[in-house]
Parts: sequence; C-alpha cells; structure tokens
Amino acid sequence: MKVILYDEGASGEVAVEEISRYLARKMGRAEVEIKATPLPNLAEDKIFRYAASIAATKIGQIDKKIVSGHVPLPGEIEYEKRRISGRTKAFGVIYDGFYLQGIFGEIIPQEGLDSVHIIFTNRLFATWDEGNKRYHLRTSLYGIPSIISTSGLIEAPAKPRQYYLLKQQYERLGRDLTELKERFKGSFLDYGDRRLTEVAKGYAMQAVFYSLLGDPFCQDKGCRLYNAHWQEELIFAQLESGYEFCRQHTKVLERVGGDSPVFHHT
Ligand SMILES: [Zn+2]
Repeated sequence: MKVILYDEGASGEVAVEEISRYLARKMGRAEVEIKATPLPNLAEDKIFRYAASIAATKIGQIDKKIVSGHVPLPGEIEYEKRRISGRTKAFGVIYDGFYLQGIFGEIIPQEGLDSVHIIFTNRLFATWDEGNKRYHLRTSLYGIPSIISTSGLIEAPAKPRQYYLLKQQYERLGRDLTELKERFKGSFLDYGDRRLTEVAKGYAMQAVFYSLLGDPFCQDKGCRLYNAHWQEELIFAQLESGYEFCRQHTKVLERVGGDSPVFHHT
C-alpha cells in the first residue's frame, strides 16, 4: 500500500514530515510519500481555472446551500489565485467540503488511484446537513482523496459548554477573550497548538482505515478512530486514552505489518 500526503498550506500548523514517519511505522510495508499540491506550479490559465472553481465552493451563508455552477465574483477569484500561489492565507473563509474534495480529486494523479491520498489543508470546510438545513464545520472528509483540515481540528469539534456560556458574557461585557481562553487552556485545540501534529496523526490513520476497511471510524472512545464531536472527546481519543487503537483495530494493523503497541503512545 502506498500513502501520499499533500501539504496544502497546512505546514504552518502541523509537521507533515513527522506524520509521514508515523504512518510508515504504523503501516509496516507501506510506502509513504509527501508532495506539495501541484496547484502553485500549474500554468497561468490552469491556476485561473482552479481559482475560479475553488472560489465557487465558498460558502456565503451558513444556512444557505450553495449550488453547483454558482459564479464567483472576480475579486473572489483573485483572492484564490493569491492563495494558490502562497501569497495569502485562507482565514475566515469556509468552503463546501464535498465540492472542495472534488476539486482536489482532479489534481491527484489518475494512475495512483489504488494509493491512499491524504490532503492536509488549512482551509476550513463544512458540509450541508439536510436535517437542520445548515452547514456544519468538519475536521475531515474521507474518500479519494481524503481531506483533513488543520483549522477544522480546531474549529469543528465543539468546545466545552461552559466556554460558550462564558464567551457570551465576555462579549456582552466587552472583555478580552484571551483571558477566557487562558481559563480553559488545554481543554481544546487552538491555533499554534503543539498538540496538533499528534492529533493529525490519528486523523491520517482514519483516512488509512477508510482505504483498508471502507470505514474510518470506531465506537471505542479511546481509539484514534473515534469520530469526536467535542474537543474533549478528540483530546481523549488522540492524546489521553492511554492507548492508540482498540484491540480490533490493532489486529488490523498487525495484519498489514505495522508496529502497533497497544498500550502506549509513540
Ligand atoms: Zn478502534
């Protein structure tokens, strides 16, 4: 099995190199390779085409589903061109995850479709929920390729309820939020958080398990494949449970030939 990691502006938050070494160790005989996304090196007209399609996946309102074929404004395309060439960072923009996954799917090499392709991006993305008619932020989407958002790991899983209650109070009183974050320090991931690389390893393994078994998730709250909806759950599954994978998933890794100690983190 071959795993290819793509760095799409994510290296500011996670050490992609370290994640690749981790995967190689867990997967035994797998070959792990890191690539920068080819986007910045495309010809000018292709950059324009991708910038336009990425701009078209931008979500305007959280409760309004974007439709395919929506035409972005020239300024939005310019912004994406700068983003692709690395001249700006995508802050405050949310993209439709499935559309974004489709666009990234076009840039991965067609001959390598039996490999696991994982794109680490700092773009924040969301998917539409038909039930309550709004977008929900996501940490990751698994498929060909799988996409994992470093900003999503920070923004998507909910913070402790108490944090939101106090945040409202702080905002009403015009108090500085840094102080509030200090009070909750450690209980959720934040930008520049040194734990992000370790956490991202578990999400990369979810992508690998998606390829191995067709299912990236596990019911065990202590297993790195647990689908966390709260920051506390994420931190427990990825950092604090005392083991990496449950018995069943450890067995799968043993079959593919990786070194996977059950009861300690590496
Ligand atoms: Zn498991």
